[in-house]
Amino acid sequence: MTPGERAAALEQLAAEVRGCTACRLHRGRTHAVPGEGHPETEVVFVGEGPGQNEDQQGRPFVGAAGGLLTELLELVGWRRDAVFITNVVKCRPPGNRDPEPDEIAACAGFLHRQLEALDPAVVVTLGRYSLGTFMPGAKISTAHGTVRPVDPATGAPSAVAFAMYHPAAAFRQTALKETLVADMANLPQVLLDARKARSTRIEGAGVDAEEGASRPAAGAPPGADLEAEADTPDDATFDAGPAAEPAVPDEQPPLAPATEDAPDDSDRTDQMTLF
Ligand code: SF4
Repeated sequence: MTPGERAAALEQLAAEVRGCTACRLHRGRTHAVPGEGHPETEVVFVGEGPGQNEDQQGRPFVGAAGGLLTELLELVGWRRDAVFITNVVKCRPPGNRDPEPDEIAACAGFLHRQLEALDPAVVVTLGRYSLGTFMPGAKISTAHGTVRPVDPATGAPSAVAFAMYHPAAAFRQTALKETLVADMANLPQVLLDARKARSTRIEGAGVDAEEGASRPAAGAPPGADLEAEADTPDDATFDAGPAAEPAVPDEQPPLAPATEDAPDDSDRTDQMTLF
């Protein structure tokens, strides 16, 4: 899939989400929230479902949890608009309740198609419903910070899942901020490992070298060293804030070019069950 085809597929999918009435969640929504990000990214974050702010704006992770996610990304030198962010269900469950199994099933086709189009190297799960989709049977308390191959049946043909707590969990249990920081600090290395594994699989499958190399460097700055070692700090703290020095060297590919700052002017602490 060419970059243009990928962007068109994602836009077509977003239009379908905005008009979708396939489950009861469409009745209470202000806006559906298809997801957003860079179409050429290698990293997709999958949360659970939109909250009040997301429902009002039609964008994912724009409340307090989204602000924390943006800060976590900045701690490793990544920008929010260089990744793709979406949810398991695209419409807000009333009162931020947990999504029902039939609602998740009704919406699964959209996530499947997003992953098919994006073909990410890493899917980062945020929260237990996302975890359940990509690491069935896993518990977040033991799975966070770990990696597991993604079942291609999810739509992602060649990816690993990396489990993290939902950022909003840190508002209920402040100690989890340090856990989130520590797990995020490992994400650049997870990407490098996943990228290496993908290139090995491409070579093993005899895929044309030009085709196989068309995406691994997507978004990387000119001359970026794909074999660069990630160097994550041991002393990173949540309080380091967005002005913190990137936790990875300059060679670490930022996944996709930056285009704009994400908003951080809303609040969402009344999350559904997160872990
Ligand atoms: S949650 Fe998904 S399946 Fe349900 S109405 Fe919204 S877009 Fe459609």
